[in-house]
Amino acid sequence: MTGVIVPDDLPLSRAGVDRAALSRTDDGFVAAALTDDATRVLLVCDGAVVTTTGSRVALLPPSEVRVPASDDDGWLLLGRGEDGETYLALRVPDRRPAPRVGEASDVLVHAVPTEVGPPTASGLPDGLTWTPLRDIGADLTAHEAGLATTAVALDAWHARHPRCPRCGARTRVAQSGWTRVCVDDGSEHYPRTDPAVIMAVVDADDRILLGHAAHWPAGRWSTLAGFVEAGESLEHAVRREVAEETGVLVGEVSYRGSQPWPFPASLMIGFRAHALSTDVTVDGVELTEARWFSRDELAEAVRSGDVIPPGRASIARALVEEWFGGTLS
Ligand SMILES: [Zn+2]
Repeated sequence: MTGVIVPDDLPLSRAGVDRAALSRTDDGFVAAALTDDATRVLLVCDGAVVTTTGSRVALLPPSEVRVPASDDDGWLLLGRGEDGETYLALRVPDRRPAPRVGEASDVLVHAVPTEVGPPTASGLPDGLTWTPLRDIGADLTAHEAGLATTAVALDAWHARHPRCPRCGARTRVAQSGWTRVCVDDGSEHYPRTDPAVIMAVVDADDRILLGHAAHWPAGRWSTLAGFVEAGESLEHAVRREVAEETGVLVGEVSYRGSQPWPFPASLMIGFRAHALSTDVTVDGVELTEARWFSRDELAEAVRSGDVIPPGRASIARALVEEWFGGTLS
C-alpha cells in the first residue's frame, strides 16, 4: 500500500471550482452576477440538483430561471469558472416540514435511504429533472461535482438552521449564502461539517471486515463508519467505532483519503485499520451482521448477488476496492 487514495480521484471529492471566497462579502456581487448572461445557475433542493436528460448538471443562464417566492434569500455563490464566469445556486423551497428538535442525524452516512425525495419535475422546462446527488455523484466531472456538492451542502445547512443557536431568534442569510446572522444579537453562524470516520479493517490474513446495518436493504454490506465524538482524535474514533460495533480491536490506523458527503453535513475521513483480533460480536443495534471476507469470498459473493457492495459514489466503495485491488462488478 503506497500513498493515499488521491482525494481528487474520489467522486464528490474533486475540486473543480474556484470558490471565490473573497467575493462573498461583496454585498452587490450576486445581484450583479444575475445581470450577466455568462453567469450560470444550478437549482438545488433537498439533496437533489436539476439535471439534463443526459444526467449532466443543468447550468442555466439567469434569464431562464424563475425565482420562486420565498421569505429567505435563496441565492448561493458557488464560485467562478476558468473564463471568469460566476456560478450561483438557487435554493428552491422544498416541501418538507422544518426539522424537529432532536431529529436523527445521518449516522451510517454512506447508505442511509433518503426518506423524502426531491420535488417532482413539475415546473421545470422540458428535458430537465430533479436528480439526487447520490445517484449521479460517481458520474460527475470535477467541475460539476465541485458545484453540486457545495450547493447541496449549503442548502442542507440553511434548511436546518433557520434560528440562532444562542437565543432562538430568526437568522438571515449573509455573505452570499455562506453565513447566517441573528437578527436579534447579531451573532454570525457558519455552515457546519460533521467529521465521520470510515474504515477498511483488515486482519493479519489480509481479509476485510464488512458489516450489514439494521436499516440497510438485504444484501448490502459495507465498511464500518461512525461520527467522531466531541474531544476525540480521528484515530481513537476509528478504534472505538470498530470495537463498539464488532468487538474487534484495532492497532495501526492510516489515512487513505476524504470525501464530502453532504447528506446532510458529513465529511467522510477514510482509513485503513489493522485488526489485532478477529472474533466478531455485533452490537445487534447498529449492525446486525459483520464478517471477514477474503478477496475470493467477496468476489464470489458479489458475483452471486449475496453481497451488494456500497454505491459507486461512496468512499466506502473506494476503500473496499483499494483493498480488493480492482473494480468490484
Ligand atoms: Zn441570537
